[in-house]
Amino acid sequence: MRILAIGCHPDDLEIGCYGTLYKYVKQGHEVSVCHIANGNMGHVEIMPDELRKIRFDEAAAAADIIGAKHYSIDIPDIHVTAENDELIYELGRVMRKTQPDVMITHFDRDYMNDHMQAYYATFRASFGASIPHFHGAEAGPVVPVCPIYHMDTVAGVGFIPTEYVDITEEIDVKLKALSCHKSQLEWMLEHDGIDFLDFVRTCSKVRGYQCGVGYAEGFRPSLNYLRLTTKRLLP
Ligand SMILES: [Zn+2]
Repeated sequence: MRILAIGCHPDDLEIGCYGTLYKYVKQGHEVSVCHIANGNMGHVEIMPDELRKIRFDEAAAAADIIGAKHYSIDIPDIHVTAENDELIYELGRVMRKTQPDVMITHFDRDYMNDHMQAYYATFRASFGASIPHFHGAEAGPVVPVCPIYHMDTVAGVGFIPTEYVDITEEIDVKLKALSCHKSQLEWMLEHDGIDFLDFVRTCSKVRGYQCGVGYAEGFRPSLNYLRLTTKRLLP
């Protein structure tokens, strides 16, 4: 299968589903990751233009660790909206290039609007990419509308998974990929006293308790016409 995971900021997929993505890769599936926002507002001292470049490199390094292809759409933080036509065209092009059988993105209720809009943008672009005369034909053939899974919210707030993926054997690589995001982790640790690696490990452990394994990631399907399936698509 081909899997396309679309995160909002450069570290969101690492937090929500990198264990699952790495598991897909180990099983021989083709995984692509794409972040929509460039992360340029994610620091107090590093200025947006410089940070934008740093965070692109951090995300590319993280994708390398799990063996995923990396795409990025350069939308400034706090400006992600599914009403942005250019964003939809660009996302549609990524979908035409990667031809996903299944996609993973945010939940439609998470702690910041950028995250929620990333789901709506994915949903909108996915329909567009299935239409022959929609923008982006130069990027590749149309992509059939495919199932979408919501990954967990940050800290699991308001999110009850209906499917779990056992990532006990992938947790260390998930955290190694997350460690690539030094601009975020070091800042949070030094200035806010938050050990974000421990935070993410603990959330994965809680999801693991819920389904009887060491570590897990939780998901919910997007329940809409044309996106349902009789098969288990998560690894
Ligand atoms: Zn985010």
